[in-house]
Amino acid sequence: MREALIVSRKFSLEESHTLAVAQEHGAYKTLKKLQNLSPLEVIKIIKESGLRGKGGGGAPAGNKWALMPQESEKPSFLAVNCDESEPGTFKDRQIITKDPHLLIEGILLTCYAIKAIHAYVYIRGEYYQYQQVLQVAVDEANAAGLLGDVKITLHRGAGAYICGEKSALLESMEGKRGHPRLKPKQPEPEWYFGNPTLVNNVETIASVPFILEHGAEAYRSYGTERSPGTLLFAMSGHVERPGVYEAEFGVPMMEYINHFGGGVKNGKKLKAVIPGGASTGVLTAKEAEEVLLDYESLRAMGVSLGTGGMIVMDEETSMVAVLKNLLEFYHEESCGQCTPCREGTGWVDKLVGKILDGRGSSADIDELLEIAETMNGKTICVFAPAVSAVIVSFLTRFRDEFEAAL
Ligand code: SF4
Repeated sequence: MREALIVSRKFSLEESHTLAVAQEHGAYKTLKKLQNLSPLEVIKIIKESGLRGKGGGGAPAGNKWALMPQESEKPSFLAVNCDESEPGTFKDRQIITKDPHLLIEGILLTCYAIKAIHAYVYIRGEYYQYQQVLQVAVDEANAAGLLGDVKITLHRGAGAYICGEKSALLESMEGKRGHPRLKPKQPEPEWYFGNPTLVNNVETIASVPFILEHGAEAYRSYGTERSPGTLLFAMSGHVERPGVYEAEFGVPMMEYINHFGGGVKNGKKLKAVIPGGASTGVLTAKEAEEVLLDYESLRAMGVSLGTGGMIVMDEETSMVAVLKNLLEFYHEESCGQCTPCREGTGWVDKLVGKILDGRGSSADIDELLEIAETMNGKTICVFAPAVSAVIVSFLTRFRDEFEAAL
């Protein structure tokens, strides 16, 4: 497999989180390039690179950046999403602990392009020790005069999954409950206290220095036409070597699992793979053998790439128990604004619990699918539709296991 180290170049270095080591290996040198580039030219390069948001949605980053006003009476902000609470996802914390200066460099480049004066990094509450590492790096960069006019503030969340949703994240940053906002009809920037704000996740921003240093074409030389570049795939579950490994988009899923993960643990057979974090659906072993790791290939299989947090499950895994585990989580984490989500997540959790305990009937499976349909497309944010898709994905592929458990 071709080596693809765009974000994780410094991960194996000793003391890679320190400014001295990072600068020895080229950190912050792209800032000099800004002397010859206007903000709009930087946005053009990002657009040409095809960089897509790496926090789950996969939206073209350059298009989002271009929504930010270049001339405005209001100040512009950058909010870096480091909420990272999707089960199976643990890549951004690698960046902020192993190469925080890469993230800071990306923040400075992004702030220049969107004319932001202040960047916030929204870190999930449970990442206290990682926040400490990043804070030291911000302080080091500030003391070395690298931040210029940009202020960087770390903002700790309080542990709510939904605060990874960009508008809920901004509500939380404003000091309110983390409730997602209604979507605007037309694309527009996000708003932080009424000021235009760009929200991108950590890995997206950490990919920017490579693109500015080597050019859009160099980034595009990795991956596929529509999914260019690389992703830090996090691999957990029944593999010999779980961890975070950077690979270019478009590699076969099984090649990735065998090459980096050492294959299924203890020589057992593969049963299923959750491809990109808990809310992306599930694939059978046969589908995992066929699929490529890029946005389009996974979508064609009816699942999604999400954050790239892959959960590998062996032949002894109970898919009913896995779904129960996920639904408990969703029930706990629904923000409660929308009835189909607030009530629906509780109902489906109870129904799958009943099936798991051997008290279910075939009518329960039908009811599960009916509730899943009701939860789809009728809510403020995509949380409920994602839960609905997960239920359908499990029942479509592993219905025989649910029936056997009745
Ligand atoms: Fe909250 Fe669920 Fe509605 Fe999203 S879908 S706003 S999480 S209740």
